[in-house]
Amino acid sequence: MLKPLKAIVALLLLVSTIDAQAQLDQLFAPFDCREHAEFFHVVEAVEPPKVDSVIAAPEIVIEIDTINEWKEWSYVENYNFGKDRGAMPMITDLRALHPYFRDKINKLIAECKKQGIELAVVESYRTHAKQNEYKVMGKKYTSSGAGRSKHQYGLAVDLVPIVDSVAVWDNKQLWLKVGVTGEKLGLRWGGRWRKPYDPGHFEWTGGLTSVHLAHGMLPIISEDHYPCAHDDVKLLRKYWKEWETAQAAVTRK
Ligand SMILES: [Zn+2]
Repeated sequence: MLKPLKAIVALLLLVSTIDAQAQLDQLFAPFDCREHAEFFHVVEAVEPPKVDSVIAAPEIVIEIDTINEWKEWSYVENYNFGKDRGAMPMITDLRALHPYFRDKINKLIAECKKQGIELAVVESYRTHAKQNEYKVMGKKYTSSGAGRSKHQYGLAVDLVPIVDSVAVWDNKQLWLKVGVTGEKLGLRWGGRWRKPYDPGHFEWTGGLTSVHLAHGMLPIISEDHYPCAHDDVKLLRKYWKEWETAQAAVTRK
């Protein structure tokens, strides 16, 4: 009577040991988050140092989602700032801009805030699909076709002053203050243009022309100030492409 019971207990003990070992293996299995991020998939395998009877603590890895950030970019729907800007949503996230230009815009917003002017982002990066929509809507919206606007390279932004929660489009004095502040930061201001007069528009190309941009060039910025500039821009191009695909799909519907 006792023997079978002993055997069962022994068997249960064995099973639980194997199970615990499996769990332990899982716990200490090497995990490299970079393998899961497309941009850092080339990881050199390094032999761990051979140390007896020391179980290394699992490395703490901060996982940054480098694949889907574009999905988190903020955007607004038409009439959000009181104007007809077409059916396709407008990307308003400053992360969608070229890193150097993005910093300048953050400075512009901060400088204006010091002067008591609150600015909202109407549009930052713009897809070809969205640019085409403006083109169809007429000259009032853009004089450039797909590929010709600085917005399509993350090098332009449209802003508007907000007074008492309302977008103020027609206060020339206010625009001048914002425009001059932007120009002091080295930005080109659309308030100096006549066709069309575009006071909410700021751009910067680092000396590149539309032709350079259309050929896929982007301003090169010093790695001294932006250690990850190269990778950031590479990632940014990928996000732009994702938006392009998403909005082009909407157009086809
Ligand atoms: Zn613009």
